[in-house]
Amino acid sequence: MSMYIQEEYFVAYLKTIRKLSRSSVKHYLDAIKKISSILKEKQLINDSLYEIVDLDRLDEIRDLLRQDDYFVALDSQGHQMYSSGFNNYYRFASASDFENIGRKIELLDSVKAPAPQILQTRQTYKRSSILAKQSIVVANYKCELSSSHNTFIAKSTNHPYMERHHLLPLSQQHNFKTSLDVYANIICLCPICHRLLHFGTDKDRIQAISKLYEKREFRLENSGIKITKNDAIELAMS
Ligand SMILES: [Zn+2]
Ligand SMILES: [Zn+2]
Repeated sequence: MSMYIQEEYFVAYLKTIRKLSRSSVKHYLDAIKKISSILKEKQLINDSLYEIVDLDRLDEIRDLLRQDDYFVALDSQGHQMYSSGFNNYYRFASASDFENIGRKIELLDSVKAPAPQILQTRQTYKRSSILAKQSIVVANYKCELSSSHNTFIAKSTNHPYMERHHLLPLSQQHNFKTSLDVYANIICLCPICHRLLHFGTDKDRIQAISKLYEKREFRLENSGIKITKNDAIELAMS
């Protein structure tokens, strides 16, 4: 298992969704390894490009590379293999082709180690906004409690405004050996349903949690999260 959830998902995405050959996958991964070492040397990251969980930060890195003489020269010598590796990762991270993935996203479910290296103070785990965006796009901007729920068009995406929610809260990560910040545990919700899950009456919350649990039970299990419905309700209510 890699240390980085986004790396594991990226590799699975290239192989399973994009159906790229082993050699193309290897080229992209090698390119990202090289880019990571360049960024590390510049002290822009700690270790790997995959540690970046904010898309805005990834945008900054992209601009930086484009303006970096050393990188531009290297890329041109390498017949654009480096920028091509980066661009393919960016395409994945920004979910640009996730609208057509649909249920194929389930093929990417697998056990992920939690990321202790991004454990922050107050025992809160840094959430990946990249995984969140991907989860919203793959749900086609529809509320997973009811696809009929309407919101408004968000300026940033030109799609219905939706929010992500972790069915099993990340504050409970310490109870699990595998990561809770995985596709299987990230739900796309309209803002009303999302607020309901956090601030609704116990009865309404339990009903909503049960429904989502039933939809995700097997995907959670495939992601290493084995939990009964009652335990899931108890954790999600905490
Ligand atoms: Zn939430
Ligand atoms: Zn809703």
